[in-house]
Amino acid sequence: ADDVALDPWGSSTIADYRKLFEEFGIEEFDEVLDEVPNPHYLMRRGVIFGHRDYRRVLEAMRDGDDFAVLSGFMPTGDPHIGHKLVFDEIIWHQQQGGDAYGLIADMEAHSARGIAWDEINEHSRDYLLSLIALGFDPEEGELYRQSDNDTLQKLAFELGGKANFSEFQSIYGFDGETNVSHMQSVVTQMADILYPQLDDPQPTVIPVGPDQDPHVRFARDLSTRMRFFKVTDAFASFELDDAERPVVAAAYDAREEFAEDVDMPRCGEAAEWLADADLAELGILADESVRESAVEKLENAGMEPLRPRIRFFARQATDEAFEALIEEIEGEKRRYDQHIDAFDLDIEAAEDLAREVEAHHGGYGFIPPSSIYHRFMTGLTGGKMSSSIPASHISLLDDPEDGYDKVRSATTGGRDTAEEQRRLGGEADKCPVYELYAYLLTGDDDEFAKRVYDECVGGERLCGGCKEQAATLMREFLEDHHEKREEAKEVLDSLDIDLES
Ligand code: SF4
Repeated sequence: ADDVALDPWGSSTIADYRKLFEEFGIEEFDEVLDEVPNPHYLMRRGVIFGHRDYRRVLEAMRDGDDFAVLSGFMPTGDPHIGHKLVFDEIIWHQQQGGDAYGLIADMEAHSARGIAWDEINEHSRDYLLSLIALGFDPEEGELYRQSDNDTLQKLAFELGGKANFSEFQSIYGFDGETNVSHMQSVVTQMADILYPQLDDPQPTVIPVGPDQDPHVRFARDLSTRMRFFKVTDAFASFELDDAERPVVAAAYDAREEFAEDVDMPRCGEAAEWLADADLAELGILADESVRESAVEKLENAGMEPLRPRIRFFARQATDEAFEALIEEIEGEKRRYDQHIDAFDLDIEAAEDLAREVEAHHGGYGFIPPSSIYHRFMTGLTGGKMSSSIPASHISLLDDPEDGYDKVRSATTGGRDTAEEQRRLGGEADKCPVYELYAYLLTGDDDEFAKRVYDECVGGERLCGGCKEQAATLMREFLEDHHEKREEAKEVLDSLDIDLES
């Protein structure tokens, strides 16, 4: 466990999640759990254990603002119960009001894993059927495959212009042997992550396994680079004067700086500006007819420090954008008044403001994407659950009887003898069968999950009966899932997704 590598294409098991917090800056999910409205059982049970910047999404969820969820599937084999975690996460966010996206990473499967196209087509279909069968609403959300999405490819091309080979080397370990299509699939994946924000910037969560974190970090990084690119454009096309430039630039900087261990002095200017601004007076400016006179009024009132900024907005902002901006600033102020410390307020307000300005300049205005991380399921045979070892996982396509048999033959956290088990209790924490209960079989029923756990560690539950119960539940789950997949076929066929070419 000393050697925690995050490699999206590797097969290393991540044994020590704590390292992720310490070395990679993933935050503990526990700390935001209380802020989640109706948390999913995977959150309540600690299966979803980490996040980056998820508060931003939660805030939108609570305030009824726009937010999105997106995750992708590499169609290299059958979808299995490990993938179901991600399906559930997408579906839950959709049910909480998010724009939901499910994508097929077919370019990645082809270039990074060398899977043939006809095989990719077949697996893609299976992933999408299971996603719909589990509750994804394709009328409300969007399903696509990478190779078939022109808008995505254009965005990938733009993003590629902001990435270079040495980064690919250091982030992914690419070398002289790496094929060029693999690199293209990386920028495509970056484009996937930012795709929900193409029309309108919105907080977006990417539910993934921790091995996918390098993609998330790189996408967060690129999202801010795209922003800078456009700021420079804005400088050129709007001829900002010397007084205006640093203010706008500082506002742009603020987000990034805050996220990466705030460099206070650089943010200071934007923060100070917002602290100084008289919100009521700025509000008046939303009405175009009084804008000019308000500027004059403020100038006459001796509010000299505000002048260049006011002029900037008076010139650039439409009434609508301006009003939205004022509303955001006022929202921040209210939050501040309630409980947030003054400097946080200013940074947040500055970043919102920066995005508003940028979107107004025809830029992307991307909000750095957030992410949540779930634990990997242990394989039924112990070790890692792997698509390439059939006995280690239960495929969502498995015959229900085979599912039953696999659970019956699974490794457990049980003791050598029944006598010992009664005396010492089982080791539920090390038991793949208990994981099946917690991750899937008990569904939303926390009492049931807790009962299995308590009875196991208390020595009241013996493995034979416990596995029989789990196997039966698994058989029922698969029977039900297969029925729903049948129903989903019609839905999938009615969508405009090409699964033949
Ligand atoms: Fe696992 Fe059940 Fe045995 Fe406990 S009783 S170790 S949960 S199989």
